[in-house]
Amino acid sequence: MADMAKTKTYMPLLPIDKRRATFEEVALGYTAEQARKEAGRCLNCKHRPCVSGCPVNVAIPEFIAAIHEGDGERAGEIIRKTNSLPAVCGRVCPQENQCEKLCVRGRQGEPVAIGRLERYAAEFEPRNGGGRQNAEPINVNHPAKTAVLSGTPVKVAVIGSGPAGLSAAGTLAKAGFTVSIFEALHNPGGVLAYGIPEFRLPKNLVKKEIDALTSLGVSIETNVVIGKSLTLDDLRGEGFSRFVICSGAGLPQFMNIKGETLPGVLSANEFLTRVNLMKAYRFPEFDTPVRVGRKAVVVGGGNVAMDAARCALRLGAEVTLVYRRGREEMPARAEEIEHAIEEGVRFELLTNPVEYTRKEDGTVGGVSCVRMELGEPDASGRRRPREIAGSEFTIDCDTAIIAIGNAPNPTVTSALPDLATQKWGGVIADDDGRTNLPNVYAAGDAVSGAATVILAMGAGMRCAMDIINM
Ligand code: FAD
Ligand code: SF4
Repeated sequence: MADMAKTKTYMPLLPIDKRRATFEEVALGYTAEQARKEAGRCLNCKHRPCVSGCPVNVAIPEFIAAIHEGDGERAGEIIRKTNSLPAVCGRVCPQENQCEKLCVRGRQGEPVAIGRLERYAAEFEPRNGGGRQNAEPINVNHPAKTAVLSGTPVKVAVIGSGPAGLSAAGTLAKAGFTVSIFEALHNPGGVLAYGIPEFRLPKNLVKKEIDALTSLGVSIETNVVIGKSLTLDDLRGEGFSRFVICSGAGLPQFMNIKGETLPGVLSANEFLTRVNLMKAYRFPEFDTPVRVGRKAVVVGGGNVAMDAARCALRLGAEVTLVYRRGREEMPARAEEIEHAIEEGVRFELLTNPVEYTRKEDGTVGGVSCVRMELGEPDASGRRRPREIAGSEFTIDCDTAIIAIGNAPNPTVTSALPDLATQKWGGVIADDDGRTNLPNVYAAGDAVSGAATVILAMGAGMRCAMDIINM
């Protein structure tokens, strides 16, 4: 009999006063007892609406039932059949806009905490120790597989090691393909490694997922920029015959306003890469410094802005977040917004920067802003912000971090002039990830523009399945 509690079972969090001085994970996860209690809220609905809200169709009622029966291993195995990164997705997926949005329990109270339960199930190692390899049923009746079996391996080059690349590589490796990932940075993982901070996604989890991939035989070559240090033709010369471009959307956008080039104004990408990948928060133990000063302003309202603001706070700054729309319109996950507010990030909503001003020493000293009001909905369906005349004011700062969006990385596409791309730089690919070039696929943010981990993974998997079934 389902537990009729209207609210989600509470998940313990790191105490707020401790959070401001540490990069330790904030959300601590369910205990076995809490997980069983929350699993007991699931109604096991016949039509499974939650499943249709999941971009990779995880069998949600089934894995929740397994947790309720006390079988965490089985729950983990069920999820891994369609999601190879459950520990990551349980932590970072925007469930409130996906599975939980469609959960029947949400009609009268809070939906079942599907994300928290996914995270709980992910803690369990597969029962047979090889679940990742065995979990996913793959159709092996295709020429490429035959070629593998007859001793002529089909070599696939995956460009970029973010969620799209990892998911494509994992699916292909399970089907017996020889897969190499080429990654521009010195560590694999894409945004999971360089963007999302330790306090939201511990890096040992990302490493574990990558180790699982290499144990399937996937090779990962870091410090290789495809389009610069190696071209697709070079890779063809090395015997690669299929290519999956998963190079992400890591090109920061700016507003092109006065003062944006002042020292102390930097993109969230640079800031987060220094902090997360280069471990600047452990300076001087790690030798990358990062400058925040006493006061930091972060511009933007998405996950990137929340992560930058919460990192700056942990590095000792007083942080003000400036966003041109209201809280309702913020694209960040609801939980990240709540945590940022709890930790002391000050929100200046309906506010837009118009100029960065300089201190006497030549560095940034403030952000001149105007107040905004919301007008008619724009193409994205969100109400368009417009300036309120005469509302100018200035926020003092020592650092301004810009998190207003990222465009696709241009290195691969600019080296492939025949590859069809959108005006804004996204690679044009069909639902299976096929581009206009034969045997060249593309997936993830490189195609969609900045989106989500799970959408990138789903797209990577579809490319792999098309290669497998070709
Ligand atoms: P990426 O993860 O960007 O990986 C692309 C990889 O390709 C990178 O490692 C890059 O170095 C490499 N690369 C680029 N060019 C080349 C080249 N020429 N040669 C070789 N390698 C190359 N999504 C969520 O669902 N939930 C969240 O909470 C969330 N938070 C986020 C926080 C931040 C700070 C950021 C930046 C994004 C966040 N996102 C979140 C979005 C999500 O991380 C991305 O949508 C997802 O990572 C896209 O995956 P991808 O594999 O397409 O690209
Ligand atoms: Fe359970 Fe909600 Fe899915 Fe129904 S919609 S099966 S209650 S998780």
